[in-house]
Amino acid sequence: MTMRLLDKIKLIKNDWPMLKFFFRSVFKQDQPFFGLFFQITDRCNARCAMCFNWQKINKGNKELSLDEINKISKSMGTVPALSIGGGEPFFRDDLPEICEIFYKNNKTKRISIPTNSLLTEKILQSTKRILELCPIKVSIVLSLDGVGEIHDKIRGVKGIFQKVLENYKNLTALALERPNLRINVNSTISSENEDYISELIDFVDENLNVKFHTLEVIRGSFNEKNIKAPSLEKYKRLINRLMASKTLGKDEIHKLFYGAYHQLALRTMAEKKQIIPCRISSFMPVIDAEGNVYNCELLPPVGNIRETGYNFMKIWHSDKAKKQRRDIADKRCYCTHYCYQIQNIPMSPVQLLKL
Ligand code: SF4
Ligand code: SF4
Repeated sequence: MTMRLLDKIKLIKNDWPMLKFFFRSVFKQDQPFFGLFFQITDRCNARCAMCFNWQKINKGNKELSLDEINKISKSMGTVPALSIGGGEPFFRDDLPEICEIFYKNNKTKRISIPTNSLLTEKILQSTKRILELCPIKVSIVLSLDGVGEIHDKIRGVKGIFQKVLENYKNLTALALERPNLRINVNSTISSENEDYISELIDFVDENLNVKFHTLEVIRGSFNEKNIKAPSLEKYKRLINRLMASKTLGKDEIHKLFYGAYHQLALRTMAEKKQIIPCRISSFMPVIDAEGNVYNCELLPPVGNIRETGYNFMKIWHSDKAKKQRRDIADKRCYCTHYCYQIQNIPMSPVQLLKL
C-alpha cells in the first residue's frame, strides 16, 4: 500500500503515545493508564446470542452507586480514554453524571459508549446531557450484526434493526449541532452472520455515514449452544472483503491497523496462542458493575473495589493483580478481542515496522 508522506507523518505522530506505553511496559510500569473499561450495569433489554456477559445479565446485581464511582475515580489518576460497557449502558439514568465524574477527576479526553439502540429516546436525551457536561470527544457505537431480520435474530429482539436506524437518524442530527459527537458502527462476526457480511458492509457503506465501521470476531465466553466463532476458512476468505469497505477507506491509517488486526485475529484463531505480546492489558483495567476489578475483561477478577475502601490502586498493585500480569506477559492467554489487539499493534515496534 502506498501512503502519502502526510499520512506517514500522521502515523508516527498518532502512534507515538502508544510507543510510550511500549517503553513503560518494558520497564515493568503499569501506570499511568491508557484508559478504563467500565461496565456500568448488568441490566439489558436485548438477548444477543453472542453476549459474553450473558451469565451476569439481569441477575439483580448491586450496581456501583454514583457516590461509589466518584470515590473510585478519585483513586485512579489519569484515565484519558473511558470505554463504557454493560449491559446496556443507557439503562443507567445517571450515565451523563458518570461520564462527568471521569471528565472532572481523571482528565478524560475521549468517551465511547456502545448501545443496542432499543432505548431510542433515552439514548438521545442522555447523549445530549453527556455533551453538555463533557466538552470532549464522545463516540456512540451502534451495534449492528446484519441487515433486517438477521440482526433481529442475532440480537433476539424483533424490530431492533429498525431501532438502530432510528437511533442513527437521531444521533446524526444531533452531531450536526455538536461536532464533538461521533457515531460509529460495530459488528461481531460469528457463525450466525459469516455468510451475510458482504451485504452488511454494503448496507453501512451506502446508508450510514459513519467514521468507523468495525467488524470484529466474536469474543469471550459466549453461550456456545446459541452461536459459534466463524469458520477459519470463511473468515480467511472474508478478510479481503472487509478491507474493501468504502467506510474503512475514509481513514488510511485506521485501515492499516484494521488490516493488521484481522491478520492477527486469523493467526490467533488458527494457532490458538498469543501471537504478539498483550501489553495494553497492563494499562487498561476493567471495572464491572459490582466493582470487580480485572486486568482484562476476559480473565478472572483480581479483587473487588468495595473491599478496599474504593481504593483502586490497592487492587491494581496487589500481588494477585501483578501475578496475573506476569502470566499475561508469559503468554498464558490469547484472544481476538478487538479493543485490546488493535492497541497492541502500535505498542509492538516489530508490528509497527512491518506496517
Ligand atoms: S446488548 Fe450487549 S449486554 Fe445486552 S445482551 Fe446484547 S451483547 Fe449482551
Ligand atoms: S491476550 Fe486477550 S485474554 Fe489475554 S490479557 Fe490480552 S486481551 Fe486479555
